Amino acid sequence: MSDYKFFEQVNRSFDKAAAYTEFDKGLLSQMKICNDVLHVTFPIERDNGKIEVIEGWRVEHSHHKLPTKGGIRFNMMVNEDETMALAALMTYKCSVVDVPFGGAKGGVKIDKSKFSEREIEKITRRYTYELIKKNFIGPGIDVPAPDYGTGAKEMGWILDTFRQMSTDINAEGCVTGKPIEQGGIRGRTEATGRGVFFGIREACDNKEDMKALGLKHGLEGKTFVVQGLGNVGYHSAKYMIEDGAILVGVAEMDGSIYSEKGIDLEKLMAYKSQNNGVTGFPGTQTLKNSSSVLESECDILIPAALENQINSDNAGKIKAKIIGEAANGPTTSEAHDIIKERGALIIPDNYLNAGGVTVSYFEWLKNIQHVRFGRMGKRFEENSYKKILSVIETVSERKFTDKELKFLAKGGGEEELVDSGLEETMITAYNQINEIRKEKGVDLRTAAFISAINKVGRIYGQMGIFP
Ligand code: GLU
Repeated sequence: MSDYKFFEQVNRSFDKAAAYTEFDKGLLSQMKICNDVLHVTFPIERDNGKIEVIEGWRVEHSHHKLPTKGGIRFNMMVNEDETMALAALMTYKCSVVDVPFGGAKGGVKIDKSKFSEREIEKITRRYTYELIKKNFIGPGIDVPAPDYGTGAKEMGWILDTFRQMSTDINAEGCVTGKPIEQGGIRGRTEATGRGVFFGIREACDNKEDMKALGLKHGLEGKTFVVQGLGNVGYHSAKYMIEDGAILVGVAEMDGSIYSEKGIDLEKLMAYKSQNNGVTGFPGTQTLKNSSSVLESECDILIPAALENQINSDNAGKIKAKIIGEAANGPTTSEAHDIIKERGALIIPDNYLNAGGVTVSYFEWLKNIQHVRFGRMGKRFEENSYKKILSVIETVSERKFTDKELKFLAKGGGEEELVDSGLEETMITAYNQINEIRKEKGVDLRTAAFISAINKVGRIYGQMGIFP
């Protein structure tokens, strides 16, 4: 594999799209570069009393909107280039789905499995402290979230650490993806996978596009393979299956499995937690290595793990007609060109996995509004529906059953409102970028970049340049 480095990959896609825009070269360079790159090293005392030095980064890619926003990952592969690339992707992703943040990303270079929970807590708190000291965190400055290797627990520690050092009334909005009791929002855990599902469903509902791929429209009966059964992969697969798609293959760290007849996701999850992997799952064929299943027969391939998984080594062997990029940067630009050449549809990461940050935006709004979505209106809505239903009962001389009434007169609570906001966001953005794709005769990734560059560029164009 001789593919470019990750940040360079992102910039290559940017440049390709920039050619379709009217912005000045200098402005385009300003849009591409990372505004602030913070590299920290700090010691922690391990449970055995020994001192270990930990390395981490936080990159704020673009300050055209504040706060900046993006996850924090805990992984041994974390480095400066990766964090810069992911921060840049956050800027473009937020812009594609009209989430009013600049892009950022953080990472701590650790192998989580080698640390106890107490040690992970210490690392998270100390990393947060470094961010506070350097002014790299705050509800109006930079707002982290979960990413690969982190979740609600870590976000709770970040908030707690921040709050100890701050009297800001909006302190809860300094991080998203928190536990509900600490100001988190219902639906955030599922959000990225749910968004992936909405995006793929929208693409598959387009009759003209499906015809061009030689596929029937709709998700019903379409086969798919998922790489990575973490939070994003699991939830993407779950909603795809609920809508009638068939999971035929799974790739995990220990290897990959395939079954033409379909795989029972919930049983597989139980098997995976008992056996620490997916290979050997009854009723499936175990393939020789974890990436083999990416090359198997299926309609949709969903890479939901890390970057560079589809590269110049395996791109030529991939048979799927649709690639749904649930992960960030799973396809290198070299691989993208090979797959595109074959006529497949790539639904790009800078659109498809934006569900996470979209719901993070809702969580941040909830935090700075200090009120749960639905609290003011849910009952009022329900009572209004009930009044209308009772008029219908009088006119039609038919009484609704209690079950019907419950269903018909349901007001929107936090869960329903978050889900509907996410669905609206994903559908609107898909149609926006698909229109650009057709108008300019480009692929969806380039279209998403054109959309982002135009939106960010217009803001930069109106900003004063200070001496
Ligand atoms: N880490 C997620 C992403 O890459 C979510 C970021 C956020 O919610 O701020 O999009």
